[in-house]
Amino acid sequence: MMSVKFRTIKGVQDILPPKTYLWQRVEDAARRIFSLFGFSEIRTPIMEFTELFIRSIGEDTDIVEKEMYTFQDRAGRSITLRPEGTASVVRAYIQNNLYNLPAPQKFYYCGPMFRYERPQKGRYRQFHQIGVEAFSIDDPYLEAELIEMLWLLLEHLGIEDLNTEVNSIGCTQCRPLYKENLLEYLKGNMDSLCSDCKRRYQHNPLRVFDCKVDTCKGIISSAPKITEFLCNTCKEHFSRFLSSLRKLDIPYSINPSMVRGLDYYTRTVFEVTTTALGAQNAVAAGGRYDTLVEEFGGPKTPAAGFAIGMERLITLLEEKTDTEPPQPDVYIVSLGTDATDRAYTIASTLRREGLWTELSYGMGSLKSQLRRADRFRAKLALIIGEDELKRGTLTCKRLTDGFQGEIKLTDVVSDIKRFLNHDQDT
Ligand SMILES: [Zn+2]
Ligand SMILES: [Zn+2]
Repeated sequence: MMSVKFRTIKGVQDILPPKTYLWQRVEDAARRIFSLFGFSEIRTPIMEFTELFIRSIGEDTDIVEKEMYTFQDRAGRSITLRPEGTASVVRAYIQNNLYNLPAPQKFYYCGPMFRYERPQKGRYRQFHQIGVEAFSIDDPYLEAELIEMLWLLLEHLGIEDLNTEVNSIGCTQCRPLYKENLLEYLKGNMDSLCSDCKRRYQHNPLRVFDCKVDTCKGIISSAPKITEFLCNTCKEHFSRFLSSLRKLDIPYSINPSMVRGLDYYTRTVFEVTTTALGAQNAVAAGGRYDTLVEEFGGPKTPAAGFAIGMERLITLLEEKTDTEPPQPDVYIVSLGTDATDRAYTIASTLRREGLWTELSYGMGSLKSQLRRADRFRAKLALIIGEDELKRGTLTCKRLTDGFQGEIKLTDVVSDIKRFLNHDQDT
């Protein structure tokens, strides 16, 4: 008996065909649609100095406190596997002087992220994101345009029941005033808060909005709202952002309790959600971060971006489509050594012509080879036996409708193309 010696570590998964075709479909669509908006791909390392993430995501966040994959390398430096994409892109932007490129500078990335979370259905410790970051644009139209781009992609993929939730969390001018008011309110309800929220009260009161405990949720729903405290510049920015969304025909709802769990956001935050899987689920989220580049030592640069959670998106797509792997054009059935040798040269010729060709390597009977051709869902089976070889012909069988005919070995390429294009001809 076989016994499996090695398995994946907890919370990570292999992504196998035919599912990988679905992943490629999403990635291809994203590349194509993002390029219409002028985004270019950036590839940053999956590991960075730990400090980068502590400084950007924030010390009192769940990510930094509990979820990072952090280790010492052989030289004793603290290294972390990236838990998200923005910090690395901002680091690369500054390190490589990308702000010297013509403005705006727009980038997208796609790849694995790592967080030590409790594994559950659809949530993995290695998960994948496609994200975008745009620099040097103050205009609130940018956020609307980012959401438009996201919608185009999700609509193109056939994701339904989309909604955009938006909020403004103010700027360094107006947020402190709001925090004071929030603290005042929380103080009056301190006894009823959970222990996590009591801690949040001390360090980062805005985080109470992320609490999942029911009693906290009740208290927080009546808390003062950030939108009531915005300064005039933030108010103006938010209302121009909303009118841009209306111009683009993007339906939205304002969610005054959405603050997003990261420290670096300023003003606009948003989440695109869907109810396609029953409960409301976020597919993508993002926002503006006008101070991060400067905090990292770069020039004062406004910026905004979003990230899409690939695993959830793939689940949504699986619900609605069967992922059939693509079909080979030709499966070559060969009987006997000489015929099989000939099959190899024919396969080589067909592949050079751009036709996906599978070989039987002469294994098994005619019947079992044809059965394999069917299992591959090949469009055509080419059958070569010793007799055919002597006559200089082979049999071509279209597996979709059973139509078959004899073709000359000298005309293989043109005849096969004729067989394949049959549907368009009639
Ligand atoms: Zn403000
Ligand atoms: Zn709580």
